[in-house]
Amino acid sequence: MLIKFIGATKTVTGSMHYLIIKDKKILLDCGLYHGKRKDYYEINANFPYFQPAEIDYVILSHAHIDHCGNIPNLVKRGFEGKIICTSVTDDLCRVMLLDSGYIQEKDAEYVNKKHFKKGLPPVEPLYTQKDAEESLKLLYGIPYHKTFEIDEKIEITFYDAGHILGSAITQMKIKTNGKNLNLTYLGDLGRPKLPIIKDPELVETPDYLITEGTYGARFHQPPQEVKNILIEVLFNALKRNGKIIIPAFSFGRTQQLVLLFHEIFDEYFFSIPIFIDSPLSAKITEIYSKHAECFDEETSRYVQNGNPPFKFAQATYIESVEESKSLNDLNEPAIIISASGMCETGRILHHLANNIEDSRNTILIVGYNAPHTLGRKISEGQSPVKIFGDEYKVKAKVVVLDALSAHADQKEFLNYFSNFDKNKLRKIFLVHGDESELIEFERVLERENYKNISIPDKGDEFHL
Ligand SMILES: [Zn+2]
Repeated sequence: MLIKFIGATKTVTGSMHYLIIKDKKILLDCGLYHGKRKDYYEINANFPYFQPAEIDYVILSHAHIDHCGNIPNLVKRGFEGKIICTSVTDDLCRVMLLDSGYIQEKDAEYVNKKHFKKGLPPVEPLYTQKDAEESLKLLYGIPYHKTFEIDEKIEITFYDAGHILGSAITQMKIKTNGKNLNLTYLGDLGRPKLPIIKDPELVETPDYLITEGTYGARFHQPPQEVKNILIEVLFNALKRNGKIIIPAFSFGRTQQLVLLFHEIFDEYFFSIPIFIDSPLSAKITEIYSKHAECFDEETSRYVQNGNPPFKFAQATYIESVEESKSLNDLNEPAIIISASGMCETGRILHHLANNIEDSRNTILIVGYNAPHTLGRKISEGQSPVKIFGDEYKVKAKVVVLDALSAHADQKEFLNYFSNFDKNKLRKIFLVHGDESELIEFERVLERENYKNISIPDKGDEFHL
């Protein structure tokens, strides 16, 4: 059996790991690299290590685009096998991949306008909504804990990774040369006590472990602190008669915030209107509502009491552009949650332009912001910042909250790993993290007596 590391090696996006087990060729995840088009278009477009048509299965850990977003391109280039994932990820991919197809089309349109002016030839989108639609036919969702047999020698079982709704730890049991091997891929490992979803589920010690290490060298604020920080932000906004503008990813962060505000309003008997201004968020929230079986105890209680967690009097989901623009005329305290999370595109831009120069308002940064994005600039306290090409002075109060991070930090990784038998664990592969972060994570794991740790490079292969 052979494993070749193709994506998310020494970096945090583009997850893709290639397995050859006897006559079966399998991909663990098929994600997109995020970043500047000129740096990543070719890397995303081509599959230099295999022919898409020869892949039998893709096993998806979850529906984040850096883990599933290159599937439509894989299908466009000849993949006809099955895409195995949890039933929830199956539902989520139907929204996320179509949206990604739309973004790819828009991106190509934008580039082609520039190319036309310069007399350059047009570019093709990486894939289209049509390609995305084709790929959805190959999705095959299975419930957590139900074993799926690829053949009599390879079994797969999903466990809850506690990272995002539907996220899975993939346990593969493989019979090879008379031996039984357990290869476990953690995907993105979540954290205990995150809102809505269950805590990461413990699994038996594998022989080989592939783990992410996004925050293997860092520590987050505990999730339990989120509510207090939000209450303080709310009180301050009310005192100043200001608005709270929250750039947030449509998948995950938005639903967490909506539920947290719901809880705060119920507990403290005060409220202000919340506008969730993202059509994608509304679609994803519907999928959340459909999968109450994945909720933690606290969120399940809402459902049992006949109280929908994401629908309440103060919450309004905004669909049309006109309604979105009409929020510019609001002159009273309100919360506006909108995408994109890193403030690069989308409706959040006009909310920022409209509110960032008013000192009564608060900009609440709740997620990861890649270097050079507008979200990063605002969170680092830069002023002025450019929005739609114009300069804006940042007079609004900026609050940065990292307690909602969906990735385990160093302490949480070590706690999780402490359930493993170090003598049984034969090798650990560290992926999905910046190189410096992974090197530090490796050092910490070695200090804790974990052996045989490897940080693979793109294209590195190992015989297991
Ligand atoms: Zn993820």
